[in-house]
Amino acid sequence: MKKTLYLKFIFAYLLFGLFGFIVVASFISDMTYDRCRQLEADRLYREAVTIADSYAADLYSAEVSLETVYRQLTALSHYTGTQIWILNPSGRMVVRSDTPLTQDDEVYVENFNPAVSAGKRYIEGDFFGFFQTPHLTVMAPITSNYKTSGYVVIHMESAAITKQASQLLNISWLELLFLLLLSLIILIFFTEIVYIPLRRITRATEQYASGNMHYQFTVDSEDEMGYLAASLNYMASEIARQEDDQKKFIANVSHDFRSPLTSIRGFLVAMLDGTIPAELYEKYLRIVLNETDRLKKLTDGLLTLNNLNTKGMLLSVSDFDINETIRSVSASFEQICREKNVRIRLILYGDELYVEADRDKIQQVLYNLVDNAIKFSRSSGDVQIETTERHRKVFVSVKDNGIGIPKDDQKFIFDRFYKTDLSRGKDKKGTGLGLSIAREIIRAHGENINVISTEGVGSEFIFTLQRSSLNDSYE
Ligand code: ADP
Repeated sequence: MKKTLYLKFIFAYLLFGLFGFIVVASFISDMTYDRCRQLEADRLYREAVTIADSYAADLYSAEVSLETVYRQLTALSHYTGTQIWILNPSGRMVVRSDTPLTQDDEVYVENFNPAVSAGKRYIEGDFFGFFQTPHLTVMAPITSNYKTSGYVVIHMESAAITKQASQLLNISWLELLFLLLLSLIILIFFTEIVYIPLRRITRATEQYASGNMHYQFTVDSEDEMGYLAASLNYMASEIARQEDDQKKFIANVSHDFRSPLTSIRGFLVAMLDGTIPAELYEKYLRIVLNETDRLKKLTDGLLTLNNLNTKGMLLSVSDFDINETIRSVSASFEQICREKNVRIRLILYGDELYVEADRDKIQQVLYNLVDNAIKFSRSSGDVQIETTERHRKVFVSVKDNGIGIPKDDQKFIFDRFYKTDLSRGKDKKGTGLGLSIAREIIRAHGENINVISTEGVGSEFIFTLQRSSLNDSYE
């Protein structure tokens, strides 16, 4: 495609040149010649009429001598580059500007017939066989006493008109050359502005089509071409990023599945070959059970994420009391808190605080955040859940004074499977999916979730929700 587009333009350019050449060489050349002939014929005819009315008429009325008329006409013919004759109606020459004639000279134009020019201003040809080369001839009758007593005939060599026409034609050739140069400049501009960027874009699409999504290219223009190139680049880098994410995701999933499976297999083999004695079975079966729990948690997490990721996640939005939801989530952690000696403190805005959201999904977000806060708390730590209202938004914060999150890790903790090095010792069962599930849910609501944390001091997760107008009716 790319080659032919350029060739097409070169071909169109050549065609344009050829067409211009043909037009100038034929039509314009003919038109110029016709025009010059017409102008010359008009001019000569006016001269012939003037001579017929002046010298020639005087000659026939014998007011001036032949000699005088001859001299006048010779001078005029030199000046105008013509031959001027005075002929009798019979074709006998009375005066001829290029040769002096006497009364006795009998020079005739054979077959002279003045009717040939009837209805026309001029005739073109050899003038009844008199000339060897073509001539343009005009004739004006000399009348006296209502009779035609002779003719003033002016000849001009056709070659002189051709010369004049070709001088005029040179201007048209120059114009054509100028046009060709101008269109060559346009062609060069086209190549620079359209063709070269287009070729780069085509080459890039070929690379993308063959799977090389990391191919980068630049088109340095701020027009549609530049915009197209930038969009293509962006599209390719997005696809490349998604491919990388997918690879990373699969590597993470395989890794997280492999470690519990390996340990389960290890214990089962040890039981079968007797390395683990029967009296210790219960202990190891509990470990196996724990590992299967972890696998189940992992699959559940993946399934949830997958469902959340599907575009246009369906939310069943209703108005509900977030304070009440927080109370019930914290109640479900009572047993764990007692075991870890962690205290949950609730600082809730008003008795009831209605929000517009999907209750089950927000409950899951709260569950994941409180679960983390307790997991990463030190024993006898505090977890504080707080609700506030600002600018028609409800802010929910889950804060702990646990191990905290190192600064460099903070931007990754919402990614799938991400766990900080700090947390690995504290939470062996963690999947690294809890926060990414929370973020997907909050994003699906069009809201935000953020973290503020200091390593060794604690973490606070804050998310926003749409405040319900139900609150107004309770105020
Ligand atoms: P997990 O199931 O492993 O808890 P999450 O996605 O919920 O996965 O959390 C990802 C990581 O973020 C955790 O492994 C931990 O390193 C860190 N993290 C999350 N919440 C806290 C917290 N409250 N305190 C300290 N670290 C946290």
